[in-house]
Amino acid sequence: MPRFHGPVKCRVDGAGAARPVDRTMNPRAVPVESTELSVDEARALLLAEVSPVQDTDCVPLDAARGRVLATDLESPLDVPPVDNAAMDGYALRLAELLPDAPTILGVAGRALAGRPFDGIWPAGDAIRIMTGAALPAGADLVVAQEQVTTLAGTPVRIQVPPGQRAGQHCRRRGEDLARGSVALAAGRVLRAADLGLAASLGVATLTVRRRARVSILSTGDELLDAASSVATPLPGQIFDSNRVALIAAVERLGLEPIDAGIVPDSPEALAAALADACSRSDAILSSGGVSVGDADHTRAVMATLGTVRFASVAMRPGRPLAMGRLGSCLFIGLPGNPVAGLIAFHFIVRSALLRLAGAVEPPLPSFSVRAAERLKKRPGRTEYQRGRLVVGLDGRTAVKSTGPQGSGILRSMGEADVIIVLAAERGDVAMDEWVEVVPVHGLD
Ligand code: AMP
Ligand code: MG
Repeated sequence: MPRFHGPVKCRVDGAGAARPVDRTMNPRAVPVESTELSVDEARALLLAEVSPVQDTDCVPLDAARGRVLATDLESPLDVPPVDNAAMDGYALRLAELLPDAPTILGVAGRALAGRPFDGIWPAGDAIRIMTGAALPAGADLVVAQEQVTTLAGTPVRIQVPPGQRAGQHCRRRGEDLARGSVALAAGRVLRAADLGLAASLGVATLTVRRRARVSILSTGDELLDAASSVATPLPGQIFDSNRVALIAAVERLGLEPIDAGIVPDSPEALAAALADACSRSDAILSSGGVSVGDADHTRAVMATLGTVRFASVAMRPGRPLAMGRLGSCLFIGLPGNPVAGLIAFHFIVRSALLRLAGAVEPPLPSFSVRAAERLKKRPGRTEYQRGRLVVGLDGRTAVKSTGPQGSGILRSMGEADVIIVLAAERGDVAMDEWVEVVPVHGLD
């Protein structure tokens, strides 16, 4: 697999580090590779360039959701801490039960969760026990309350049917997690249940990696910021959507987005913006200007400031992709079309950003469903079609297209429940054929 090449030219000491860029420079100086990379190749190539951030923070649990655990969390305790009852019922000694006939026992006391039985347990008696209560010493099984008949009269006596087994309805000390074993592995992106688990172990803070900083910028003379004071587009202007969507996507992945604004289609402005972003972040995510149009300056500017590779990826949407470095900063240039940018983000860039964050990449969830209609697909590139889940004629979940699949139709991403992933070599999908889908709700 070829790596990026050429010297690193960028100084990372601020906006002034940008070299003056010759406006006459040939924007085709860095050629687009003539062979298309597969999606897997592009993802692997980008991943190979990434080194995880190393600094760590110590954070309280309520600030740890979405952060990346820096070191294994070893359990300081056995979980559960003592042998205890898994059901409400009676704690018994198996040796006192008749194997083939009901056994009648007295009841010597009671054990509740947090209030163990600490009296004397005479032979021939049971101990009433509630779920979570510590098993009294010598108990080797719990019989469920529903199985027991309480006999009339005082003192209380119970009748236990035959057929009870040693260990039944008992939870053993350390059976969920033994003291010293790994409760949460380094690299885990911490979720609600993980934080609950840490709390259950008496852990109040976790050591996590510093959040990787990703500067996000949009390029294009036509772009207007909806949040700016001048919010009425002139003829030919459109509102910038990529920056807002990518900032949210980066945040959702657990990294720290930095809004680096809109950069006009001028080599000087782009050079200054890249150098500035480089001084403030671990990665730069730009969109637009990575093709070979007259206003596409990313290739020429990056060739001056750092190293870059312009790949054509066999995917639809999302074909052009720039990957490179400015000093120690990773650079990723996404296509300008809004759906293309987001698809490339989820299916190529996500892996690299998770590695940058120090995360062990959680796999993208995917499953197979039948197509509820015929889907058009040209052989040659992996297609990522936006789909909606529907109930098919047989009552099972099936998938339908959201409609027109143009790479600028951002509404189609919002309407999608899933992305239908269609392998490069395949052609049209017949109705009822199985297809692989990735739920969008896991991504955004
Ligand atoms: P480009 O990749 O710069 O040639 O842009 C391709 C298409 O995407 C053009 O129609 C652009 O106007 C559009 N586009 C580029 N950047 C953005 C953006 N940030 N928000 C919305 N549309 C964009
Ligand atoms: Mg453009």
